[in-house]
Formats: sequence, structure tokens, C-alpha cells
Amino acid sequence: MDPVLPLLFVIGVCVGSFLNVLIDRLPVNETILGRSHCDHCKRSLQWYELIPVVSFFILSARCRTCKTKLSYFYPFIEVLTGAVFVLGWVFFPVDFLAFAYPNLKAVLVDHNSYSISVFLAKAAFLGILCTIIVMFFADLKYYIIPDWMQLAFAYFALMLFFIREIDFERIVYRMGAGIVLLLPLLAIYLYTKGRGIGFGDVKLAWNLGFFMGIIYGMSALYLAFIGGAVVGGVLILLRRKKMKSKVPFGPFILAGVLITIFAFPWVNYLMYLFYGVELLFPL
Ligand SMILES: [Zn+2]
Repeated sequence: MDPVLPLLFVIGVCVGSFLNVLIDRLPVNETILGRSHCDHCKRSLQWYELIPVVSFFILSARCRTCKTKLSYFYPFIEVLTGAVFVLGWVFFPVDFLAFAYPNLKAVLVDHNSYSISVFLAKAAFLGILCTIIVMFFADLKYYIIPDWMQLAFAYFALMLFFIREIDFERIVYRMGAGIVLLLPLLAIYLYTKGRGIGFGDVKLAWNLGFFMGIIYGMSALYLAFIGGAVVGGVLILLRRKKMKSKVPFGPFILAGVLITIFAFPWVNYLMYLFYGVELLFPL
């Protein structure tokens, strides 16, 4: 086992503690700098109450003063982020990145070495995964994809274009790819007057094009529509939810992104089975 992994997990858990803050504060425009406090009695937390995961269980999931039960959501996000750091490192998507970022090819050949370029590429990729975690759960909890996370996502993607050699042409091309992917979602947004999908989803579609290009981005959006239709249909059947009730679309887009990044050959194979076309040449 790579000796870096336990360390990565611990770093991930600590970062996850920060992601919790982003998930809960960005959607309501609260400052992310203030000290964490109990949502119920507003008391500021002491340093020993802020240790990720550990504090939660030592305090047996309750606030020390008002005894209000704390949500398991917080340690869940921390452990999840720790796991994402380890998995993102172990399953570093070399094939995906080599297609989407030709400037990284030389770096990816020896991606198990410890050069600065490899480190930067992995750090940028973990950054992308962190913004995905925040956008996913902020949209699920508050129906908002925070603009700051969209910017951070674009920033980490931009970072990938700058490693080893700067690929200006591709950056410009990818900005156009973002517009191509944004248009269908913008059309849905305008047609449903914002009830079908939010404007955050439209902006996210641009980010998809910028980060992964047209073909990968189309694959992600396609999976999002399939997933949204299936889950929406099941919810209507199970809970007899009305068609109007809100299911955020962002998490489906982000799940589509993750599936495309880590399992594109499978997506490609299924596309071939269903439609007889292969997405062999990602642009
Ligand atoms: Zn309290």
C-alpha cells in the first residue's frame, strides 16, 4: 500500500470539515470565516469540539450545552471526503485526463512518481472532486449550486491546462465547448421558466464543457437526464410526489460527471449497445 494513503485520508477528513462549512454557509450567503457555532443555542464551539469526526463521537452527537442532537450529516461528509481523497488518488483517471488534457500526457506516463507536475495534477483533480462534493450536497439540501464553487471548479480545471506546458488554444476551444453544452440546458431553463432546472445547472453545463470537452460533457449530461428521469419517475410512483415537487438536477449532472470520468469505457460500450454509435474520439 502506498504510505501516502493514510495521510491522505486524514487530510481529506479535515478538508471535509471545511466542506461542511461551505455546504451550509455558501447557499445562505453567510461568511465562511466566522467560528463554527451550535445551530440551536448559537454558542461558539471550542477547539476540542472542532476535531473532525472525533469530537462528534466523544460528545455523543449532542451539543455540549444545549444537548440538541447533532446531525450525522457532518461526520458523514468528513469521512466521505477522506474516502474521496484516497479513491481519487488510487483511481486517478489517467485515460480521461490524457484525452481531455493533452498537455498532461508526459506527466501522466509516470503518474506514480513524485514530481511537482504529478502532485499539481493530482491536487487539482482532488480540488475538482471537493467542489463536486459541495455542489452536490448544497443543491440537495438547499437547491442552490453556490457560484463560488462553480468558480472554484473552473479554477481547478484551468490549473490542469497550465501544468507542464500551457495549452492556450485548448483553453479558448474549451470555453466554446462550454457554450455548446450550456445551450440545451439554457433552452430547457427558458422553456420551463426555471421550474425544470435552475440557472445554476445552466452555469454548471458551461463548466462541464470547459473541464471535460464536448463529448465527455455530453456523456455526463446524457447520464444526468437518464438518471433524473429514472429517479424522478420512481419518486412519483413511491411517494406519489406531484410532478411539480422539487428534485434538484445538479446532483444528477455531477453524478454523470463522475461516471464519465471513472467509467467512460462502460458508458461508451452501453452507447454502442443501445444506439450503435461509439464516442471513440472525445473532443
Ligand atoms: Zn447548542
